[in-house]
Amino acid sequence: MKILVANLGSTSFKYRLFDLGDPGEPMLARGAVDRIGGPSSKVVYASSKGKTEADRAVPDHGEAVRLCLEQLTNPATGVIGSASEVSAIGFKAVHAKGISGVQRVDARLLSAMEAFNDVTPAHNPPYVRAMRMLAERFPEMPLVAAFETGFHATIPDRNRRYAVPNEWATEHGVLRWGFHGASHRFIAERTALLLNRPDLRLISCHLGGSSSLCAIRDGKSVATSMGMSPQSGLLQNNRVGDFDPFALPAVMRATGMRFEEALAILANRSGLLGICGKNDLRDVEAAAETGEADAQLALDMYVSSIRHYLGAYLVELGDTDAIVFTAGIGENSPRIRSMVCRDLERLGILLNDELNEAGHGERKISAADSKVEVWVMPTNEEIIVARQARDLLSARS
Ligand code: AMP
Repeated sequence: MKILVANLGSTSFKYRLFDLGDPGEPMLARGAVDRIGGPSSKVVYASSKGKTEADRAVPDHGEAVRLCLEQLTNPATGVIGSASEVSAIGFKAVHAKGISGVQRVDARLLSAMEAFNDVTPAHNPPYVRAMRMLAERFPEMPLVAAFETGFHATIPDRNRRYAVPNEWATEHGVLRWGFHGASHRFIAERTALLLNRPDLRLISCHLGGSSSLCAIRDGKSVATSMGMSPQSGLLQNNRVGDFDPFALPAVMRATGMRFEEALAILANRSGLLGICGKNDLRDVEAAAETGEADAQLALDMYVSSIRHYLGAYLVELGDTDAIVFTAGIGENSPRIRSMVCRDLERLGILLNDELNEAGHGERKISAADSKVEVWVMPTNEEIIVARQARDLLSARS
């Protein structure tokens, strides 16, 4: 069974095609269309048979998917004979009111996503637009949404509920839903395999453009740092993270700012960017090295927010067998990993500095006498979505 996994942005479409009929679950091809809707889009494609790159106008996501199917079936560089070989398109969908897990995309699901447009403004509107267009344009193609919140359905109420009136939770869905579910699920499954133990206590640190920690026991999420929306938890590259809502009236009254403006600042101009004017961690690290105090403060605050949840999850789990760093920052910044693990020897967490600094890809970076194993692990959210789409379709057939 071949599954195409789509990653949508408001003006981008990235995809990977997996063959899940093969036990090795190989990725057959990948591609991307950037700047959709602009005068000229960049269209890239790569498979074992070759790579292509072109600039051409791509007016919308429907056309991007048509191009993708054209590339996949191209006699020279394509990997399938016809588009009908693609069993489904799987989407790493983010959030929907009253819906989680893995679901076929239909009118009810699209309305539920729209109902949470305000909660995930960067993600839901482009996804809904594109899914609607694809459903119209390719009515025969099953579309499957694998929600990021799905992995966190196992979080117990004591960690899931906010201390708000009950009806906020029951009627309006005001709960700690959690996100990065495909990534944390991949890390849970992969770590259990590598350590050859299904009964692991694990803290997964997904540190990227957006970041979250997840406490995992026996492969199941029991707590995560993001809440009702992906804006909360750790401070993010340009999002505020945890914040006291009662600070808002003070700023709004003093400046005359409208509620929507204040929310936009918290969502787009806060986090690392708000503290030091840079939101790419590489730039923040470089500025801190040249002695910029704001950049150093941004790094220190980011690390403090990670350690805040790390400490909470060590207590939640009672101990931990492993800590795993993943995503752009988790995989590539030895400095952040070292700052996170600093002075935690008494908790059984000790890095091997050489292993932390050197090497690439999946590897253990803890010292031989560290009680807790610390790993760097590239995540693979797309294969999780592909497997979930396959499982849904197989269960229905
Ligand atoms: P992601 O959302 O997983 O793609 O991660 C994006 C983030 O990873 C950006 O904030 C980048 O600054 C960060 N990143 C990527 N490469 C590096 C690196 N070599 N060192 C530090 N941060 C990095």
